Order: sequence, then C-alpha cells, then structure tokens
Amino acid sequence: MRFGLLFCLVLLAPAALAEGLPDLGEASYVDLPPQMERRIGETIMRDVRLREPSYIDDVEVTAYLNALGARLSAATPETGQNFEFFVLRDATLNAFALPGGYIGVHSGLIQAAQSESELAGVLSHEIAHVTQKHLARMMGRQNQAQVAQWLAMAVAVLAARSNSDLSQAAMVTGAAAGVQTMLNYSRDFEREADRVGIQTLDRAGFDVRGMASFFERLQKFGRLYENNAPGYLRTHPLTTERISDIENRILQTQYRQVADSVDFQLVRAKLRATQGDAGEAAADFAAQLRERKFQSEIAARYGLAATQLRLRNFAAAQAQVDELRRLKTASPMVDNLAADVRKAAGDFDGALAIYREARARHSRNKALLYGQIDALLAAGQAQAALKTASEELQLTPSDAPLHGLQARSYAALGKRLQQHRAQAELYALQGQLVAAIQQLELAQKAGDGDFFEHSQVDARLRALRARHAEEVKQQLPM
Ligand SMILES: [Zn+2]
Repeated sequence: MRFGLLFCLVLLAPAALAEGLPDLGEASYVDLPPQMERRIGETIMRDVRLREPSYIDDVEVTAYLNALGARLSAATPETGQNFEFFVLRDATLNAFALPGGYIGVHSGLIQAAQSESELAGVLSHEIAHVTQKHLARMMGRQNQAQVAQWLAMAVAVLAARSNSDLSQAAMVTGAAAGVQTMLNYSRDFEREADRVGIQTLDRAGFDVRGMASFFERLQKFGRLYENNAPGYLRTHPLTTERISDIENRILQTQYRQVADSVDFQLVRAKLRATQGDAGEAAADFAAQLRERKFQSEIAARYGLAATQLRLRNFAAAQAQVDELRRLKTASPMVDNLAADVRKAAGDFDGALAIYREARARHSRNKALLYGQIDALLAAGQAQAALKTASEELQLTPSDAPLHGLQARSYAALGKRLQQHRAQAELYALQGQLVAAIQQLELAQKAGDGDFFEHSQVDARLRALRARHAEEVKQQLPM
C-alpha cells in the first residue's frame, strides 16, 4: 500500500464532492459504493502504468500472473468482481489489493516463492480481501473529520502533480504515509482472508500447505529484519496465532502434490535475468547449471540466455536457446526469447521464421504478436507490419500497445495523418485524453489523407473533446 492511499485521495475527493458526499455522522459506517471503488482503482492504475517507475510493463510476466489470478478468482464464490494483477519491480516481499480489484505483487515476492502454490496462496489471500470487501469497509468507516482530511490532502496532491513540483509532492507523500496506517488490515480481516483464501487455493487445485509454508518463511524474514520487517507483514500483520489457525484449517483439507507450471519457473527466471547486475545474474545461472542445482533446467537455461542477451553476448545466448530447443519446451516464452536473440543479432529473417511458426501454435499470445510486428518493422516490411497490426486490432480494438505498433507502421510508410490518429488511440486507451486530442489535431494538419480519413479524425476529435470536457467538469468541484 505504498502509494495506494495517496492516489485514492485524488479521485475520492472530486468524486465524493461531485456526487454529493453522504452525510456521515461521527460514528456512521457507510461502505464505499462499488462503482466509486472501481473508479478509484482505475485512476490509481492509470497513474501506476504511466508514472510508477517500478511498474513492470512486460506482457509475458503480466499475462502469467493474470492467468494464475484468473484460475484462482474462478474458484472463489461469484461476486461479479473483475481482477487485474500487476507486478512492481521491488526486492521487498509484498503484495497488496488496491480498490476495484487491482492486485499488485512485488517481483521480490514472486522470486521468494518456492512453489507456484506458495505464490497462489498469497494471491488467494489478496483476492479474499477484495471479495470480502475489506478495503471498501475500511474506507467507508472513516468519520467526517477523516474524510475532510482526505479531501484537503487530495487538493494538495492534485496541486503538487499539476506543478510537478517534487518537493511539494514529497511533502504530500509524507502526510499520506501518516494516514496509511489507517489502512492496515485488522486481525479479523486477516483471519477471514486466510480462511477464504485457503478455500480458494484448494478449489483451484493447488497445494494448500503453500499458504502456511510461505507465511512461516515471511515470519522468519520478519525476525531477521527486526524493525525493518517485509512490507507484507506490516500491511498484513502475521501472528503466531494466525499461522496456527492456517495450519489447523489445512489439516482439514486433503494432501495433494502439485507440480509447478513451466511458466512459473520461466517468469521467475525472467525477473531475475532482467533486474540488477546482468553479469552477476549470468554467473548465478551458469553456476546453477554447472553444479546442476536448479529447480528447473529449462528456467536456468532460459535465465542464462536472457542475461547473455542483455549483455549482448549473442553467441552465448544462442547456445542456451539451442539447449532449450533440445529440451523440447512447449512454452511460447522460449520461442519469444529465441526470436529476440535472432532479432538482436540482426537476423530478422531468422526471427520472423520463429514468430511465424510459434504464432501458428499460439495464435493469441500477445508477446509473440508484438514481437512479430516489431521484427517486421525492423526488417523494413512496414506494409506487412501494418497488415498484421490492423487485422489484430479488428479482434482486440482496446489493445493499447497494438495501436502503438500500428502508429509505428504508418510512420514507417510515411502516412502522417494515420500515424497521429493511431497514436491518439494509444493515448486515449491509456487515459491520456489531452495527449490524444493533441495527436488528432496534428493529424488534421498532417497534410496527407483523403476526405474520409479527415472526417474520421474530425469525428473522433469531437468525441474525445466531449469526453475530456466531461472529465474536467467532474474534477472541478471547488
Ligand atoms: Zn492480508
């Protein structure tokens, strides 16, 4: 919850004022309405994606976590709640639920998990906080004085952001940190999240002991760190009582041996390979392979190939890719890495051959799709890149990166009106309406395009200006 509250305030304040703040008596408890919670969450996520430097914008890592999360949320009682999972590059062990079903996980936690069931255990616990409405109940249970304090801070946050004055922003962050403690879950909520989380874990077919083993290890870390306990323990107070509670519940479920998925191991290797010192990571993976001390040979070779690629040792990276081929791995992550190695070495035909073959097997895989279009552009085949991007956009019109790739394709073909129009769609999907409008204005002045393209741009510009005016109206309550 490092930035949770700070951003909550930004939206909560205008929304509450615009819609009429309910008259909360000193002791009245009103749960936060679900639509408002979702809007708060969406605004936070927009900021996270655009401004949080630790946000991991990696389609493979995100897709893996969301697939795991979807399997777990499908095993929870139906609440109509949507979930979105994302990863922050942070070595500390933490995970947290934001309002609206957005669940963030630190990369350090994914790497500290010794089995997929352990990671699933933490996600199940967070999903339970959401389905049991813990955040909404806590945010609703603030008295009027606290709500007023939130509003005052929200204004300060907005001012700090529009001035982009860092010292002011830092001051506000400090104030928010003081209020953050209000959002720590109570022991009752923790116990409920454990109970519901274990049920979810069991129903989804994972090893329920994963929850206890991970929490026990977190507690050991906690003792090790003393005053600087892992974030997870601060936001989810872990007591001996809680652990024995979890263990008792687990005794009531059936023992089950669950193998980790290949992608769990590959994602962990990718996170290790792409963070910190590349040389150190390469030495680490090489040692694992030399001493044959690894959980998964595929993951160790994948990690070594990815770090060698980062170090631009293309031959060494290719040697590991060849070994991976020999191990006959079916994961599209391996295909994508193999293509990346060819692309980085300047062998675009080789990369394109890999994408063609892999996409025939995994037609809905986004990393392969984006990689293929990027390789087509690198190979000077802009027309083919445009065709692929445009065809896929028919199927998934709200795919933001695909609009970005379409814009690059148009740029390569010298079609300026269409380039700015596609770029506008990317910005609009990211919630950057002002930037989107600017792109459409550039499209109008581009000096190319036919009558129909111009009228399309004009119509889109009118629609986005109206949407922007509506947002501004909602954000200026004072
Ligand atoms: Zn918790």
